[in-house]
Amino acid sequence: MDTDSIKAALKTVKFPGFSRDIISFGLVRNVEFNNGEALIGIEITTGDTKIPEQIAADIKATVGALEGVQDVKVQMEISTPQNQPSPNGAANGNAPASSAAMQNVKFAIAVASGKGGVGKSTVTVNLACALQRLLEADGKPGVGIMDCDIYGPSIPLMLGAAGRPEIENDLILPLQNFGVSTMSMGFLVDEDTPVVWRGPMIMKTIQQFAQNVNWGELEILVVDLPPGTGDAQLSLVQTIPLDGAVIVTTPQPAASNVARRGARMFEKVNVPYLGVVENMSYLEADDGTRQHLFGEGGGASTAESLETPLLGEIPIDTAIREGCDNGIPIVVSDPESVAAKEFFKVARRIIDQLHT
Ligand code: ADP
Repeated sequence: MDTDSIKAALKTVKFPGFSRDIISFGLVRNVEFNNGEALIGIEITTGDTKIPEQIAADIKATVGALEGVQDVKVQMEISTPQNQPSPNGAANGNAPASSAAMQNVKFAIAVASGKGGVGKSTVTVNLACALQRLLEADGKPGVGIMDCDIYGPSIPLMLGAAGRPEIENDLILPLQNFGVSTMSMGFLVDEDTPVVWRGPMIMKTIQQFAQNVNWGELEILVVDLPPGTGDAQLSLVQTIPLDGAVIVTTPQPAASNVARRGARMFEKVNVPYLGVVENMSYLEADDGTRQHLFGEGGGASTAESLETPLLGEIPIDTAIREGCDNGIPIVVSDPESVAAKEFFKVARRIIDQLHT
């Protein structure tokens, strides 16, 4: 018995309620093995006390079953997410465990960009609708969007979902349109609520989206992150157990530099890249010629430097913007268009990657 074999065994221990294991999620800090005793150090950020308990129990069961291991010790270093008032939220009944609210969510993926205005929310909404249609055709459960862009929550408008969410058994019910469930700060505050008020709320809100929203049974939850790569984004990706990240960029080299720097955040928390989507890649004229208004090659170079695939190149199309403004994504309104087909291609590639 050696530490490599123990690490291999730890790869079979899943984060409670999720398909990813604790090694790939970056929770395992050290593994030691001396005289039949395995010592495993775990570092985890969570406000839910049940999650570390479950992980420790699973580690003990898995590693304890290995030949030559007489004793297993698990050292837990637990930190609570920033701005979390109490680590005992779950215990005192205020906050149901995220594993309970999200236990039927099979995969969670993030959509991120280095800066705003590159079309991250547009990609999120069209991607979610495309995923929903493909999964439905495969007889799989649905898709949800967690809109974490609390400074400019545009998902409700783009998805044509409006109203106030209802509460059932202490859990918020997401709103639905086109078969996609969604939860957004946009449902909870009025448009003219000052942004300064929202700042301190960011972590608390996101924590609630993960813990207090009844997502139901979802195959894929698409998480629209706020643009940028600061501490808020980092805490966020540590709060929600993510199975992968999609990076959105525009084609010009400057934008892709920003995207690359931003994307490195996922490496810190061991969230694998699913790939890069280049948005606003070209404008096609009636005669089929393509104009590269924002330059060329940014998506490909971002993908190359992150060693991840370029999943697709979305053209500039007024129908995409109109779809956003009217609340009917182009994937729904005109699924045969070039842009929609590209979104379907991206969605299919993501499904293939998650299921392998
Ligand atoms: P972000 O979420 O990155 O801030 P948005 O998704 O809000 O960006 O997009 C910004 C604006 O650009 C929106 O008005 C949207 O409709 C428009 N837009 C995004 N992608 C495209 C595209 N490929 N073609 C045309 N308009 C687009």
